[in-house]
Amino acid sequence: MIRLLEQAGKRPLTKEELRQLIEGYTPSLADEAARRAVAVRRQVYGDAVYIRGLIEISNICKNDCYYCGIRRGNAACERYRLSDEDILLCCEHGYALGFRTFVLQGGEDPAFTDERLCGLLTEIKTRYPDCAVTLSLGERSRESYRRLKLAGADRYLLRHETADRRHYETLHPQGMSYDERFRCLRDLREAGFQVGCGFMVGSPGQTADTLAQDLLFIQDFRPEMCGIGPFIPHRDTPFADQPAGSVELTCYLLSLIRLLHPTVLLPATTALGTVAEDGRERGIKAGANVVMPNLSPADARSKYQLYNNKLSTGAESAEAVELLRQRMAKIGYTVVTDRGDHKKEGLTYGNV
Ligand code: SAH
Repeated sequence: MIRLLEQAGKRPLTKEELRQLIEGYTPSLADEAARRAVAVRRQVYGDAVYIRGLIEISNICKNDCYYCGIRRGNAACERYRLSDEDILLCCEHGYALGFRTFVLQGGEDPAFTDERLCGLLTEIKTRYPDCAVTLSLGERSRESYRRLKLAGADRYLLRHETADRRHYETLHPQGMSYDERFRCLRDLREAGFQVGCGFMVGSPGQTADTLAQDLLFIQDFRPEMCGIGPFIPHRDTPFADQPAGSVELTCYLLSLIRLLHPTVLLPATTALGTVAEDGRERGIKAGANVVMPNLSPADARSKYQLYNNKLSTGAESAEAVELLRQRMAKIGYTVVTDRGDHKKEGLTYGNV
């Protein structure tokens, strides 16, 4: 196993080798993977932890993903949509707090047309030319992605959710398609975005085999960003009674992803901070290097419930950057105030 850890990132591992690493999980193997992941990350990004201000712009969604609390079919979800003014106020507030990346995330809300988003992007980029804007608004057409990029968006997060076709079909209703999801990722890259994919750890039906497929995809696609966090059940979804994913496996996978793809920007996600009080720190210690505190208006935070008990206060809130800074300093990391762009391959790992 140690031999495989050693070779990760030096040559492409096969699906079988990736499966062995996943099935071979033990706490001591995970410690070894984390130790190596931290060393590799240090070479590329030093001790920097990048922060992104997350603005949840709408919980209205036309999709019905079985795992998600804001799915269309959840009648108990109280819906909201921020106005452009609300969003610009969040940016203003976030800028003052030191954020230089704003992440606009939401359900697939048809009110956010290309026209509206392009207008909003132009406004944000005019007011804050030193900031990056990341979008996380789901599946759109190739033309739409192209327009959003031209209007100034820098990055796009679209988790692939699972790289196994059959598993994908058990997480989503008919009408949502695996091929379409991956078409979007390719189009995003072609449009010039820094692209993020990712998946939930412990989603119903996930196996060592589907996880190996996820790692294989990441190793091959080499996304600039990769969001992984534990699945957490939401009471008003078909997966209400399914168990949550574990912190341990999430952290181990963070380490493996860092080893397979040293330059990736890897968040310690809110979901990880939700399943364990010290989840964010454990994610960073496993090889993550990004945190995304919540900048949404208070009212939106409580309504953007992808899963139950989602954190949005304390160190998860943007207001508490100082607290986050202290928590990261305690484990030897420095929260930095800059855009925190992806470092290109070749300039970094192996060469610094
Ligand atoms: N509509 C956008 C944003 C989705 S929310 C899109 O399609 O990309 C962002 C991510 O939250 C999803 O990609 C999913 O991986 C995660 N998520 C949704 N429900 C979850 C749950 N119950 N537990 C953990 N993560 C969840």
